Amino acid sequence: MFNPAALYAQTVKNEGHHQVVLALKNGFSEDGAVTPEWIEALRCLRHQPGISAGQFGQKTLSAEETAWANLIKTKMPVWAAMTDSLAIPFRAITPPGTVTILLGNPGGEDAFVYKDSTICFDLNRLHHEYGDALTAINIDRIDRFFAHEFTHVLHKAWRKQHPVELESPFDDALWDCLTEGLGNYRSLSDKWVTENGTLTDHARVVLSRLQPVFVQRISALRHAGDEEAAKLMEGLSMGPFEQKWGALTVALWLAQEAQGDDANLQKWVEAGPEGILTLAQKYLPGELKGTIRNTAERGNTPAAGFD
Ligand SMILES: [Zn+2]
Repeated sequence: MFNPAALYAQTVKNEGHHQVVLALKNGFSEDGAVTPEWIEALRCLRHQPGISAGQFGQKTLSAEETAWANLIKTKMPVWAAMTDSLAIPFRAITPPGTVTILLGNPGGEDAFVYKDSTICFDLNRLHHEYGDALTAINIDRIDRFFAHEFTHVLHKAWRKQHPVELESPFDDALWDCLTEGLGNYRSLSDKWVTENGTLTDHARVVLSRLQPVFVQRISALRHAGDEEAAKLMEGLSMGPFEQKWGALTVALWLAQEAQGDDANLQKWVEAGPEGILTLAQKYLPGELKGTIRNTAERGNTPAAGFD
């Protein structure tokens, strides 16, 4: 059978320590129809098994979308070369042998992970959110997007070797803070952090605005039921970047931990989701530190009803 994706397929190998192969694939055919794999990725992303190809019709790539596809294609060797250093926080974890870069057109987020080892980019969304692919800002930005998503791939590989029990919405929130915190650490541009891990003035202002939100949400999540929890989790890592109370807050703490050397992050990966409470107590000021300490300690109460 004719496979249009093969026309565009390209693999790039990192010959370094981990031997990661990056394989580029299209989630659309030459005549603009979405592929079953892209539909599966969207179903997974949206938690909507009913999504079907018929919803999207057929739409060949615009010139702008093609420019994003070409930019990503030219980045493949650069990204393959980045995989070793991106793996530094994950000591002794073997990344998947092949990571697929799946380019799709409608319905996705700008970048997201599907299953264990597929990084999806929605070309339409990239153009819509960030404009022309070939601006200097976007040529750098797309590297950070890859780094962010590849970090999620690594965290999934880590979890397979270090099973983590997530038994409550509170556990889920801590896990999201950890994984999205590290992912968003990779998203930080020089607007946020200098090369040696010093926060910029802008970052400090945003962090002091986000920290009370982090404490309020995490403390409330400690005993929240499912319905209440869904509301409390809002904005943890979705929505405007500067309002991500979980992901950006933790990313900025991790940047100060790393001080430009990602080996300093290994202990926070190894600490798992509970480590977020320790990290918070290290960086939060005065009263907020006390509140999160109480939240952490209350979790150790063996039976409910005493607090
Ligand atoms: Zn993410």
